[in-house]
Amino acid sequence: MATKEVYDVVVVGSGAAGAMTALRASQLGLSVLIVEKAHKYGGTSATSGGVMWIPNHQLEPNDDSREQALEYLDTLIEVPVQRDRLERYIDEAPEMVRFLKSLGVPLVPSAWTDYFPHLPGARADRSIVCDTFDGRELGSMFTLMREQYTRFKLLNRYAMDLPEFFAISTRGPGWIKAFLKILWRYWTDLGSRIISGRDRRFTSGAALMGPIYKRLFDRGVEVRLDTRLDELLVEDGKVSAVKVSHFGRGYEIEARHAVVLCAGGFEWNQELRDRFLPVPGLTRYSSSPEDANRGEALMAGMKIGAATEHTDDAWWIPTMHMPMPRASNFEEIHQAAFDVGRPHSVCVNRNGVRFVDEACGYDEFGEAMVADQLKTGANTPCWLVFDAEFRANYTAGGFMPTIIMPDFLIPPDRWNHYIFKAQTVAALAAKIGVPADALQKTVIAMNEYAASGEDPEFGRGGNDYDRMFGDPAVTPNPCLGSIARAPFYAVPVNLGDLGTKGGLKADASARVLDESGEPIPNLYAAGNNSGSPFGNRYPGAGGTIGPAMTFGYIAANDIAARAGRTS
Ligand SMILES: Cc1cc2nc3c(=O)[nH]c(=O)nc-3n(C[C@H](O)[C@H](O)[C@H](O)COP(=O)(O)OP(=O)(O)OC[C@H]3O[C@@H](n4cnc5c(N)ncnc54)[C@H](O)[C@@H]3O)c2cc1C
Repeated sequence: MATKEVYDVVVVGSGAAGAMTALRASQLGLSVLIVEKAHKYGGTSATSGGVMWIPNHQLEPNDDSREQALEYLDTLIEVPVQRDRLERYIDEAPEMVRFLKSLGVPLVPSAWTDYFPHLPGARADRSIVCDTFDGRELGSMFTLMREQYTRFKLLNRYAMDLPEFFAISTRGPGWIKAFLKILWRYWTDLGSRIISGRDRRFTSGAALMGPIYKRLFDRGVEVRLDTRLDELLVEDGKVSAVKVSHFGRGYEIEARHAVVLCAGGFEWNQELRDRFLPVPGLTRYSSSPEDANRGEALMAGMKIGAATEHTDDAWWIPTMHMPMPRASNFEEIHQAAFDVGRPHSVCVNRNGVRFVDEACGYDEFGEAMVADQLKTGANTPCWLVFDAEFRANYTAGGFMPTIIMPDFLIPPDRWNHYIFKAQTVAALAAKIGVPADALQKTVIAMNEYAASGEDPEFGRGGNDYDRMFGDPAVTPNPCLGSIARAPFYAVPVNLGDLGTKGGLKADASARVLDESGEPIPNLYAAGNNSGSPFGNRYPGAGGTIGPAMTFGYIAANDIAARAGRTS
C-alpha cells in the first residue's frame, strides 16, 4: 500500500485566502500543500481588481484609526455579526499588510472612496493594490496562473492597470498616450509572446497574486492543480485528512495540524443558490470563473457538522452578458458597475421605473435589484437606457466609446439581442417590452434632474463615491446628464456577482465552528468559504480580498501557535 502523504497544513483553494494562508504558514516553518481543483491557480482573486480594503493600513501616514473604522462598520452593518471577529479583522489586517511588505510585496495605497461615504467614519484612503508584476518571474508556472478578467483588459487582450483603465474608459486626460503605450508594450515584447500570447505584465488581481506565488514557489510550496477536495476525514474528533480526486483518482492526504478551507463561495452551484439566496439569480451571470467555486468545501464542512452564516447573500455586481463567438462565459460577462452610474443614462425595472441611485456601489446596486424584484417582480434583469451622448463618451455594455467602436463595427448579431437601439424613447420602450409612457416619464424626470443637478428620488451624484464614476465635464452634477440625443440605446442588466458572501461560520481565529458554537478541531476557513465578517455589507473597494487575506494570515498564526511554531 502506498504511504499516505503528510503535511502540517493542507490548504484547499489557491485564491487570495489560500495563498496568504500558505505563505504565512510556510514562513512560520510549517509544511504546506495547496490543493486546487482547477487546471490553473490563483482563483477568482487572480482575475480580480486586486484591491484590498484595509482600514488603518498606515502605508503612508494618515489619521485613520481602529475607532474610526469601527464607527463606520457599526453604522453600516445591518445584520448581527460576530463582534470579536470584526474587531480582530480591524486589528490584524494592518499586521497582514506589514507582513507582506516585510517580504517585499510592492503594496501601494489606492484612492477609493468608501462605498458609503455619507456614513460616520467613512474615508477615501483605505484601499491598497499591488504594483504591476512581471509574470515571467513565475518561471514555468507563468502561464498557469489565471488571467485577469477579460474586461479589465484593453480590447479584451492587453493588460491595463487601474489608472489606465479609468483614463481610457472615460477618455480622461492622457488616455490616447496610455492606449498607445499599452499596445506598444505588448507588441514589442516578442520574447514573451513567443512563450505564449499572454501579456507578461500582470496587473490588478494577477499583480497581487504574482508576487505572493513567487514567494511561495521560492519556498518550495506546491500547488497541486486538478486536485479537488471531496471530503474531510475526521479521526478522534479532529479533522485529520482530506480526500481528494486528481484526474479521477481518489486518495487521501493527511494534515498533521490543520485543513484550511479557502475554496471560495458557491456562486457556480445553482442548487445552493436556489437553496440559500432570496433571489437566486443564475450561475451564468456570475463574473467569477465558471469552473471553480461550486461550494464543495462548504458542503464537506456542513457534512461534518459545521455551522454556516450569511449564506443568504452574495457580493452582488450588476452584469451584462455579451454574446461572443469562441468565448467562454467568463469572457462574455461584462461587469456593469462602471457603466450604470455615468451621466446621460438611467436604469429602470421592466415597469420603466427607477429603483436605485445608479451610481452607488455595485453591491448596493445588486441589493436594490433583489429588493425591487421581491417587491415588484419586474427586476433581474433591469435595463440600462442611454443616449448617443453616453455612447460617444463612455463604455457601454462592453463596447468602447464610438470613437474606438462605432455602431457599424458592432456585430449584427448583437443588435436587438444584447443591445437595442431606436430613434425615440417610445420606440426603444416598444423594442425592449417596457411600457412606453412609464419610460418616457422616467426620462423626462431624469432630464429635469440633470438640469437642476439634484436627484430628489435617489440622490444620484450626491456623494463622493457616486462622483468617482461621474464625468467632471458634465455640470452641475457629474452623474446626471440629459438623455436627449438620439439614437437611444438599452442593454439588459442582470443580477450578477463576484462570489457569495456567506459560508462556514468561522470565529475570530478563523476556526470553523460547529452548530453549538464550538471550534471543530483542526478545521479553519477563510475567504468566501467562510461567512463575511461584514455580514450583509460591502464597505469599500477590496472588501472581500482584504478579509480573505487577513483571515488566512490569522489562521496560519493560530495553527503555528498550536503547533509550537513562531516566527
Ligand atoms: C472581475 C472581478 C473583480 C474583482 N475585484 C475585486 C477587488 O478588486 N477586490 C476585492 O476585494 N474583491 C474583488 N472581487 C471579488 C474577489 O475576487 C473574490 O471575492 C475573492 O477573490 C475571493 O477569494 P477566495 O480566496 O475566497 O476565493 P477564490 O479566489 O475564488 O479562490 C478559491 C479557489 O478554490 C478553488 N476550489 C473551489 N472548490 C474547490 C475544491 N473542491 N477543491 C479544491 N479547490 C477548490 C477554486 O478553483 C479557486 O481557485 C472581484 C471579483 C471579480 C470576478
